Amino acid sequence: MFSARRISLKSISGFNPKFASTLAFVESSNNKITPASLSALNAAKKLNQPITAILVGKTSAKIVKDELPKYSANIEKVLIAPDSKYNHYLPEEVSPLLQSILSDSSNDFTHFIVPSSFTGKSLLPRVAAKLNVQPISDIIAVEGPSTFQRFIYAGNAIATIKSSDSLVLASVRASSFEPLEAGAPKELAVQELAYVEPEAKVEAEWVGENIMKSERPDLGSAKYVVSGGRGLGSKENFDKLIDPLAKSLNAAVGASRAAVDGGFVDNSLQVGQTGKIIAPDLYIAVGISGAIQHLAGMKDSKTIVAINKADDALIYNVADYGLVGDLNEIVPELTQKINDAKGA
Ligand SMILES: Cc1cc2nc3c(=O)[nH]c(=O)nc-3n(C[C@H](O)[C@H](O)[C@H](O)COP(=O)(O)OP(=O)(O)OC[C@H]3O[C@@H](n4cnc5c(N)ncnc54)[C@H](O)[C@@H]3O)c2cc1C
Repeated sequence: MFSARRISLKSISGFNPKFASTLAFVESSNNKITPASLSALNAAKKLNQPITAILVGKTSAKIVKDELPKYSANIEKVLIAPDSKYNHYLPEEVSPLLQSILSDSSNDFTHFIVPSSFTGKSLLPRVAAKLNVQPISDIIAVEGPSTFQRFIYAGNAIATIKSSDSLVLASVRASSFEPLEAGAPKELAVQELAYVEPEAKVEAEWVGENIMKSERPDLGSAKYVVSGGRGLGSKENFDKLIDPLAKSLNAAVGASRAAVDGGFVDNSLQVGQTGKIIAPDLYIAVGISGAIQHLAGMKDSKTIVAINKADDALIYNVADYGLVGDLNEIVPELTQKINDAKGA
């Protein structure tokens, strides 16, 4: 049983690679481990030390039974906290649990890894503040047990960061790590944890969620993405041009912040520094100028195609292919050609 004592690992053990081990937070959605969590597990694997996965909420037992064994080659142990208070990853509820595990000196955790998801981003600073350690957010590479790379200046430079904390807390940028590969399933040792009462009364309450329904693939994990910007002019034009092009490629739809602010699409489709950070095989930017905040979310894409009437648009600096001209003419023609090639 984990106690809720608040003792910094730094003061207990100091960094001792002999006993190093990693606690990895695994999120799920629709009874599946999220792709971002699989990328975070892959980052955890690069630390070359035993990994303990922690899952919370009522679906945790099912996932541990049906899904997690496929990744057991890289996971040594599993903790589950099935209490229904953890069902919706409310950070006010989940962070006291994590704090209690990480501050328990019998656990020997030297690293705590979360995906850079909405949940991970809410948990990491809370846990770090309570444990008095410096979190490292959005790592893009693991160079050693305490050395990591992350982007700075909206993705225009890479910083190499060395942590001096004996407990390293990091969030992982999913687009920088392949998801952990599945293998032959093997039974895992599972320990069940009880609910940890937060120190203060939790005022936040999960009321409900409004999930955008779309026939298109999920933006965060799609292989192909078609994004539209302010150049489309209106929601009607966005729907008229972007949706058919995305459909022809079975691509996800994305958008610039200007398109979101203009009400063309829901803000869950925003790509960029303050939106989703993605690295699909193909990214088509339509009527997007290429501001650094947008590039920060897509410039790792393998192939970038830009459609813009201004031949000096910044987006062309990162594009592999550029179609200079009026998107109102180019996009329908491109969509038609793709459909013709498919024999549709
Ligand atoms: C703190 C901060 C965070 C931000 N975060 C984000 C973010 O996460 N994501 C994001 O996208 N932005 C973000 N922004 C906003 C960003 O700076 C830009 O304002 C935004 O990306 C511009 O969107 P856009 O390219 O669609 O619009 P614009 O810059 O207005 O570009 C429109 C483009 O469409 C082209 N165009 C117009 N008509 C046509 C036509 N008929 N045919 C072809 N091309 C045409 C124009 O040549 C132009 O290049 C952020 C800004 C700040 C300050």
